[in-house]
Amino acid sequence: MPTKKKANEKAEIADIEKPAAPVEKAAKKAPAAKKPAADKTAVKTAEKPVRKPAAKKTSPVEKPVEEPVKKAATRKSTPKKAAKKEETVVSAPVEESAPVKETTPVEVPAAPVEAPAAPAEPVEAPVEIEVAPVDGDLPQPRRSVAFIGSECYPFVKTGGLGDVMYALPRALTKQNCDVKVILPRYKCIPWKYQEKMVYRGEFYMDLCADGRSFYVGIMEYVWDGVVYDFIDNEEFFSAGNPYISLVDDIPKYCFFAKAALAALNYMNWIPDVIHCHDWQAALVPVYLRTLFAGTPVGSAKTMLTIHNLRFQGIYNIPTIQYWTGLPDYVFNIDVFKQGYQDANMLKAGLAYADMITTVSNTYAGEIQTPFYGENLDAHLRHHSYKLRGIVNGIDVELWDSSKDELLDASYSRKDALEKKKVNKKALQERLGLEQDEGKFVLGLISRLTDQKGLDLITAILPALIDGNTQVVVLGTGDARYEDAFRWFENEYKGSVCSNIMYDESRAHAIYAGADALLVPSLFEPCGLTQLIAMRYGTIPVVRETGGLKDTVQPYNQYVGEGNGFTFDRYEAGLLLDAVNRAKTVYFTERESWDAMVLRDMDKDVSWDNSAKQYRALYLELKP
Ligand code: ADP
Repeated sequence: MPTKKKANEKAEIADIEKPAAPVEKAAKKAPAAKKPAADKTAVKTAEKPVRKPAAKKTSPVEKPVEEPVKKAATRKSTPKKAAKKEETVVSAPVEESAPVKETTPVEVPAAPVEAPAAPAEPVEAPVEIEVAPVDGDLPQPRRSVAFIGSECYPFVKTGGLGDVMYALPRALTKQNCDVKVILPRYKCIPWKYQEKMVYRGEFYMDLCADGRSFYVGIMEYVWDGVVYDFIDNEEFFSAGNPYISLVDDIPKYCFFAKAALAALNYMNWIPDVIHCHDWQAALVPVYLRTLFAGTPVGSAKTMLTIHNLRFQGIYNIPTIQYWTGLPDYVFNIDVFKQGYQDANMLKAGLAYADMITTVSNTYAGEIQTPFYGENLDAHLRHHSYKLRGIVNGIDVELWDSSKDELLDASYSRKDALEKKKVNKKALQERLGLEQDEGKFVLGLISRLTDQKGLDLITAILPALIDGNTQVVVLGTGDARYEDAFRWFENEYKGSVCSNIMYDESRAHAIYAGADALLVPSLFEPCGLTQLIAMRYGTIPVVRETGGLKDTVQPYNQYVGEGNGFTFDRYEAGLLLDAVNRAKTVYFTERESWDAMVLRDMDKDVSWDNSAKQYRALYLELKP
């Protein structure tokens, strides 16, 4: 880890254009978490009448069209009796910091500023004074954290990010953190959750370069100690899926990032740390240190977690500049600019975040290399002084084979060896495979994309099917993989079953009924399937990359240690060798295999450890 001095030097280079002074001032004066009404800044901000007619758009990608204010109001998806009839602007306006007593009015930074912005200047004691009474056993001091991200189980989930957004906040509440999760209110969120949401407020917010104004509704849902605030805007969030295409997604997440910050000001809930996730929330640190620098939320520190570097939110500069409404000076090569004409939202967020984390130590190192760096390796090396890796956990209550109602036979460590056979037979029956508990069942639960090493699997699949082995695939994704697996199912009827679908219940059945799970990824930031597999006593066969390397210790037959079978280089032959090693142990040294099953079930894959590490980083940001 670089020294502090080096870190500061780097910060100076990286942040050369950030608006330093205003942020520092704001940091001193802003209220601490959940500060009660004493400081009215946020409220005033929220209630400030609109200064210009609110131009509304009809589609996120359309050219701006000036429309009357009234029309805009009809678009909100949460028809609430006019809590605030008049339009209000919560966003950005730096002049709005003026109501904060003794604060010099803050200007929107028009030119590069000399000193590094948002230095890790400690925030004084008041933060401590504000905390709610807490359990004596909980670690002190209490910290408040706002999670901002684009998906969260069980509301909406397309992959591992959804799991993390669900489980980490819950684990953090046990670490004496006060967590609020801010999400888009997608129309596809199941009605059973939508109907429980409570209207929390609404306002209008300037977004684009020409100041077009947009409705922002806040719907709240409190569940198990975590507060979920959904940002409501029908124009942006009415599609069936969270992600559509970049053309739609870029404006959507520009809006979301800014609206999330504006909502925090509006609710007067100023967290110690804002923890943003992936490119969809990467603009948060940029907005915070520019347009929101003088507002109450400007006192928060930011952490940006990379769940998958492959997705960055890249589009041409004029489009992103227009939609973000951010000043020219951030569209330089150190912040947004990539190549000659593109702007990269993740890159900008990484430049402005106070801390960057990614979901495993190995991946934190890998992404600084050209092979894994997705064209951001140099940028990440430059910011490496603030880059850390913390491996994900899984929600061990959600993934608990002893209470899993989706299984044919729930099981604990005590009866796992017997009950896994029952689940295997049930799986075989359900999927139309030959029913034989003696067969070696290999599972694959995955998005079907290049990242997941599927070309290695398709290359070796014929060699795997030897009469004693069955392969069960569950996933959706690229047509070529979907088609390939369908073809294999047809070719090896009774031995291969391809479930080209997203199905939680099948996933549970496979985790419980399979003997081993394949995860031969080309790259894998952390990976959750291998963790779930181990928790269910299913042995992972993984490539030694990213989080797979950090979480699966290779089996060592001499000392009887390890959790799975691993291979290093991305080669089909090495995957085949790893599977064959697994099969050898399974068929010829069953005691060793069974011991590994129990060892894996014992392994701590919970969030507890990771949550402690995140908490330590929050304290590093806000001592
Ligand atoms: P990624 O986030 O790259 O997709 P992870 O391994 O981090 O991969 O997380 C994948 C998560 O999604 C796991 O919880 C896994 O069980 C789940 N999952 C993936 N594909 C499916 C599917 N087709 N049906 C049900 N669950 C799935």
